Amino acid sequence: MSAPRRDALASPVLVLNRSYQPVRITSARNAFLLLYGGRAHALDEDYEPHDFEHWSTLEPGERDEAVRTPTGALRVPRLLLLRGYNRVPRTPLRLSRRNVFLRDGHACVYCGSTSALTIDHVLPRSRGGGSTWENLVACCRDCNLRKGRRTPQEAGMSMRREPVRPTWTVVVQLTGVRDPLPDWEPFLGSLRSRRAS
Ligand SMILES: [Zn+2]
Repeated sequence: MSAPRRDALASPVLVLNRSYQPVRITSARNAFLLLYGGRAHALDEDYEPHDFEHWSTLEPGERDEAVRTPTGALRVPRLLLLRGYNRVPRTPLRLSRRNVFLRDGHACVYCGSTSALTIDHVLPRSRGGGSTWENLVACCRDCNLRKGRRTPQEAGMSMRREPVRPTWTVVVQLTGVRDPLPDWEPFLGSLRSRRAS
């Protein structure tokens, strides 16, 4: 078993719907609640589903994280398969500075710089530009100063991509996960291509 982390219950778990499509990333703590409540099965390294009763009898392996329980070690699942849910939800992602940075890959939409990032209103606030997904972008301080109270067109600046409201919560969450787990890879291919397109 690997060295215990600060908090194994905070480890990320990829949640799949019944059709094995990624739905969201949750914490191991929530994953155990879903598993224990019978609403999901945990997938092992061969992608075999297990209910809680059976899962709790599995020995944590070399690469596994585990939580201590009075009766031994409980393996932390990396993948969870929901039993009664077959849609891909369009969970609204909260509009926040942090999430705009995540969407924009922590890079200025004008020049790509990753330092001194601020939030830019594409149509300036002073001219009625709102705080919406479509009007807020990550922007470095230099570009922000250069743009001033102008639109990108007026300032002769182009955006590397159009700001849109993210619909794929999982994709956006993923950019915040430092090490997507290898076990997730088979389920993320379709999302990755969506993100690239
Ligand atoms: Zn810039």
